[in-house]
Amino acid sequence: MKLTVIGKYGPYARSGNHAASCYLVSEGDTNLVMDMGPGAFSRLTDIIDPRDITAIFISHLHYDHTSDLLAMRYRLEELNTKVRIYSLREDTPWFSLLFDHPLIEHIPVGAGQSVKAGSLTLRFYEMKHTVPCLAVRVEGEKTLVYTGDTLYNENIYEAIRGANLLLSDTSKPLGFDGPHMNVGYAKEFNERTGIRILSTHLNPDYDPAPEFENYPDIEVAQEGKTYEI
Ligand SMILES: [Zn+2]
Repeated sequence: MKLTVIGKYGPYARSGNHAASCYLVSEGDTNLVMDMGPGAFSRLTDIIDPRDITAIFISHLHYDHTSDLLAMRYRLEELNTKVRIYSLREDTPWFSLLFDHPLIEHIPVGAGQSVKAGSLTLRFYEMKHTVPCLAVRVEGEKTLVYTGDTLYNENIYEAIRGANLLLSDTSKPLGFDGPHMNVGYAKEFNERTGIRILSTHLNPDYDPAPEFENYPDIEVAQEGKTYEI
């Protein structure tokens, strides 16, 4: 199983060739895309053809995790290819705008459910954000967990039990009081479980790397890099 970081920024990308939240999990012929923030789609197509996307998981409907789904549909129309997207259902105009399209097969999912995407099994966990948000546990030959955006909550421990990698929203500075976890939580998850961590969802103005100098199992996610899980 491989994880490629397409975009790691939030709530907007750093200037230049960067993107907000988007990650690609690949195993054999299965390609799972997780979130599709602004700038992500073109960077994603550097790596795979949209026709080879098995499914897309959307953690929550904030713009920095979804907005390139709108640009992506033009390419789907050109290719006349369908894509399957898993997310929570929301009764909002933004939900309809994102998913009401003949080439998008939206499958509503919720906490406690699991689905198959190619060779992978996805299990969903409720997170704690300003809007409903799911973490996903991706099980294949290896297991990784992506938190989406969230405050600290005990469901994260349930999700990461026995997993090989945690891709987590833990890149905010200590003292940050918004709806994300700070760098201290990455250290806590690693100290309590020994799990390898990729810390992501970076603000362009803050580099969390110095915080993790003494933590060999915690890395700051690097865009364009493919991680062997
Ligand atoms: Zn968010």
